[in-house]
Amino acid sequence: PAYAEEPVLTGDGTSRLVAWRATLVRDELGRLIGTLSSGEDVTERRRAERALQQSEALLRAAQEIANVGNYEVHVPHGPAHWSEQLFRIIGREPALGPLPPQDYASSVVHPDDRERFRDGFGRALAAGGGFELEYRIVRPDGAVREVQSRAQVSAEPGGESRVVTGTLHDITDRKRAEQEMRQSHEKLTHVARLSTMGEMATSLAHEINQPLTAIASFAQASLRMLGSPAGPHSAELRDALTQITAQALRAGEVIRRLRGLVKNRAAHTETLDLNRLIEDLRVLAEPDARLNDVRLTLELAPVLAPVAGDPVQLQQVLLNLVRNAIDATLERPGAPREITVRTLNYPDAVEVAVADHGAGVPAAIADQLFNPFFTTKAAGTGLGLAISRSIIRAHRGKLGYGPTPGGGTTFSFTLPPLPGG
Ligand code: ADP
Repeated sequence: PAYAEEPVLTGDGTSRLVAWRATLVRDELGRLIGTLSSGEDVTERRRAERALQQSEALLRAAQEIANVGNYEVHVPHGPAHWSEQLFRIIGREPALGPLPPQDYASSVVHPDDRERFRDGFGRALAAGGGFELEYRIVRPDGAVREVQSRAQVSAEPGGESRVVTGTLHDITDRKRAEQEMRQSHEKLTHVARLSTMGEMATSLAHEINQPLTAIASFAQASLRMLGSPAGPHSAELRDALTQITAQALRAGEVIRRLRGLVKNRAAHTETLDLNRLIEDLRVLAEPDARLNDVRLTLELAPVLAPVAGDPVQLQQVLLNLVRNAIDATLERPGAPREITVRTLNYPDAVEVAVADHGAGVPAAIADQLFNPFFTTKAAGTGLGLAISRSIIRAHRGKLGYGPTPGGGTTFSFTLPPLPGG
C-alpha cells in the first residue's frame, strides 16, 4: 500500500501510531529497484482528532436533547454556519446549506412575527452586545413552532460587517405546558370560587328571598287596596309599587354580581379602584356575616391609588378572606363579632387588610396555612388561601397575615400601585 497507519512499539516500551507513505523507485528502464518510505508519528494528531469527534458528537447529542441549535452568521454578506440541530428545528435539509441572513425572516419567521423580528434583530445589530428574541417560525411542512433566540453581536475585526453568534431554542413544548398549567389553574380557581359560593349559598339565598318576600307582601297589599270598596288610595298604591320596584332591583343586583363571580372566564386585567371593588363585594359578603351575627365594617382610605388587576379574581381573594374571618370568629366563643376591611396607601403599595377577633392561628400550623388542601375545618377545602396567594402573586403582590391587636388574625395583601396613580 502507498499509505498505512500502524502501531509500533518504541524502545522505551510505549506504543506510537506511525503513518507510512511509500513509493516505488524504478531505474531509467522502468525496472523496480526499491521502495522509498517515510514514517510519521501521528499519535497526537489522531488522539486530538478523536477527542474533537467525541466532543462534536457530545455537542450534537446535547443539542438534540435540549432542542437547541446554534449558528454563526456574518451580516450582511458573509458566510453562515448552522448546527445540525438548527436545521432540524427549522425543518431545512442540511444539504441545502444555511439560509442567507437576508432571507431568514421572509422564509422562516411567522408572517405575524416578522416585523417584530426584523425590528429586534435590526436594533441588536446596530447596538451590538447580547440580545434575546422570542418568535414563531413556520416549517416547510406548515408546522408552527415557538423559538427563543439568544445571541451576541460583535464587529468583525477590520471590517464593516457584524458577526452574530447565537442559539435557537425550540420552546414549543414548554410554552404548551405553561399554557396548560395556566388553564388548569384557572379551572381550579373557578372550582374553588364555586365552593366558596356554595358555602355562602344559604346566606345568599336568604338575601334574595328577603326582597322576594317583600315584593309578595307589597303586591298583596296593593291587590287589597284595589279590591277595597272605597277604591285604592293612589298615594299608598304608588308607595307600594315603588317598594316593589326597589326590592326587585335589589334582588336583581345580587344575582347580577353572583353571576359575574360564578362564570368561568379567562383572567383579564383592568384598572381598578380597590375601594369600589370592596364596596361592590359587600353586597355578596354582608348577608353571610349578618346571618352569622358578625358585623362587617369597612374602613376605606379616602382616596386609593389605582391598581391593575382582574376584578373577579381579586373579589374572590376578598371573599375567601372574609369567609375565613367569619369562620374564625365563630370558632372563638365570646369573641367581638366584628370584621374590619381596611384599605391603606403606601408609597409603593396599596394594602387591603381583613381583621377578625377570632381564634387566631396556632403556631404549630403557621407554615402550612397556604398549602393546598390544608384545612382545620370539617367541611373545608383548604384551597382558599392557596389560591388567594397564587392570585395575589400573579398580580405581583404579597399575601400574608399577622395578629390583630387584642386577639384574632389580620390577613392582608399588597398590590403595586399603577404609576402616576
Ligand atoms: P379552608 O377555609 O377551606 O380551610 P383556606 O385555605 O382558606 O381553606 O384556609 C386554610 C386554613 O387556614 C383554615 O382551615 C384555618 O385553619 C386557617 N385560617 C384561615 N384563615 C384564618 C383566620 N382568619 N383565622 C384563623 N385561622 C385561619
